[in-house]
Amino acid sequence: MPKAMLVDITECVGCGVCSEACKKEQKLPGDVGKKRDYANYTVLRQEGDDVYVRELCMHCTDPTCASVCPVSALHKTPEGPVVYDFDLCIGCRYCMMACPFGVPKYEWQKPIPKIRKCIMCYDTRIKKGLPTACSQACQEEGGGATYFGERDELLAEAHKRIKENPDTYDNHIYGEHEVGGTNVLFLAPKDKPFKALQFNTKLPEEALPELTWQVLNKIPVIVPVWATFLTGMWWLNNRKEEVEENEGSKKIRDEKLEGGDNE
Ligand code: SF4
Ligand code: SF4
Ligand code: SF4
Repeated sequence: MPKAMLVDITECVGCGVCSEACKKEQKLPGDVGKKRDYANYTVLRQEGDDVYVRELCMHCTDPTCASVCPVSALHKTPEGPVVYDFDLCIGCRYCMMACPFGVPKYEWQKPIPKIRKCIMCYDTRIKKGLPTACSQACQEEGGGATYFGERDELLAEAHKRIKENPDTYDNHIYGEHEVGGTNVLFLAPKDKPFKALQFNTKLPEEALPELTWQVLNKIPVIVPVWATFLTGMWWLNNRKEEVEENEGSKKIRDEKLEGGDNE
């Protein structure tokens, strides 16, 4: 049975333990950031005074990112996570363009950039029968808002919560049907429904892969041109830093010389 996560936004206290646990588990560099990027697979978005929304890969049942990848670097596992083979990725960014949730992020700082995103702790945890690092940390040290389990059971729990507490919850489970269903599910507060929380509530219930591939199939020429452009940008950025560094050293040297003259 496919595994999934349920994030009950009404229970999230914004402690950030989930993001910290992810960075540790995935050995991602730096401190926890505010935006998802190559070093932050999951972050918190604050909506108003006390509502916090986790952002992470939705692990679609029929993932568009995988369907457009020309080298099959991304694929859906039978256990639920959508994972990728870092060595196969050619950095074409098709998946970034195709993902309906804007999830895959690019390693802009590297000369040969690749894609990074949440992999639902597949190798280190799911394959070993363990819960994801973020859900375990949330339950043990955080507000207890992220749950891990079988998708069917989490959906049943979410429906039960809505039925028993109609004044607490928005009457919708985000991810139950969006783009054919996802393995990350959300519950939202009644007074801040998904639309108010910036969730895309206009997505179709059908899986997107076929449609997206038809569109992207028409623009394969972008790939080599784009790759050349990005490599050029990386070189220019590095060159700029190098020049600034040299100029900084020169300035310090000049100041020292001036200081020496005054002595
Ligand atoms: S949310 Fe985007 S990156 Fe994640 S599985 Fe779905 S299409 Fe792929
Ligand atoms: S499932 Fe794993 S990789 Fe994904 S956000 Fe949670 S800890 Fe990070
Ligand atoms: S650890 Fe749980 S309660 Fe804390 S911010 Fe993450 S989801 Fe919310």
